[in-house]
Amino acid sequence: MQGRIVKGIAGFYYIAAEDTETYECKAKGIFRKEKLKPLVGDYVEIEVLDREHRTGSITAVLPRKNTLIRPAVANIDQALVIFAAKEPGPNFSLLDRFLVTMERQDIPVMICINKQDLAEEAETQQIRECYEACGYEVLFTSASQKEGIETLKERLKGKTTAVAGPSGVGKSSLTNLLAPGIEMETGEISKKLGRGRHTTRHSQLIALGEHTYLMDTPGFTSFYVEDMEKEELRYYFPEFQPYEGQCRFQGCTHTHEPGCAVKEALEQEKIGKQRYGNYLEMYRELEEKRRY
Ligand code: GDP
Ligand code: ZN
Repeated sequence: MQGRIVKGIAGFYYIAAEDTETYECKAKGIFRKEKLKPLVGDYVEIEVLDREHRTGSITAVLPRKNTLIRPAVANIDQALVIFAAKEPGPNFSLLDRFLVTMERQDIPVMICINKQDLAEEAETQQIRECYEACGYEVLFTSASQKEGIETLKERLKGKTTAVAGPSGVGKSSLTNLLAPGIEMETGEISKKLGRGRHTTRHSQLIALGEHTYLMDTPGFTSFYVEDMEKEELRYYFPEFQPYEGQCRFQGCTHTHEPGCAVKEALEQEKIGKQRYGNYLEMYRELEEKRRY
């Protein structure tokens, strides 16, 4: 039987199978030999051992469309990065790091700004303009006012979407609206239960409908640009691409070189100041790292 790994905890995998049941499986020894670790998101072949208790073993992992490294998950169609317009306001440095991480892995990404009910139109408009100019779709939602949810649903339909964003922005609230009955623990509930917001959770797939999954990836909030060459970074800023090859120097890093077409575009406000600033910040970090 075939199925999809929706969760993995301590060597056990939970597989949503063709028969609509969920099976608890272990991976066969053969995976250890081949050093292939089944990942959440994998489509697999299972052998049922006990139909009543729904246990089995994974006998094969079907070919992957892609693999994310951090977090380690498979078969992602797109990513949705969620920030709040206010409380807490967006951390653009974090957002840009996230976008770079996804560009590097060739995963299309959408931006969702939640809690739009708390912000002024002018503020949200600015965010929209900045990121749309870079080619990203920006969705605005309010989980509490149930605004923007239909559009969000539409964008998710038929896809597996990795969800990321810092805590407190409304990821659980949005997920609860998208998948009623799942009941993700929101900040409010954790408060009531006296639970910290940092209890470890595992990556899991949440079925929203046929062929539609959300990949809830706790810990997907710290982004690493390590093991990247600083010369590579500029390719992950889509708005730089029209100027690539137009600078005076070949291999221009758009940082200090004279006759730089990207910096010229920056001066003409065709490239956002904040985005460029974050580019420089990441570039310097990569440069520092190499010295160690
Ligand atoms: P998570 O940590 O990203 O999962 O965020 P939660 O879903 O737990 O939400 C954090 C807090 O923000 C909770 O108190 C929610 O009630 C509140 N919240 C979530 N969405 C909205 C929204 O759209 N507007 C407002 N005003 N508050 C929201
Ligand atoms: Zn340049």
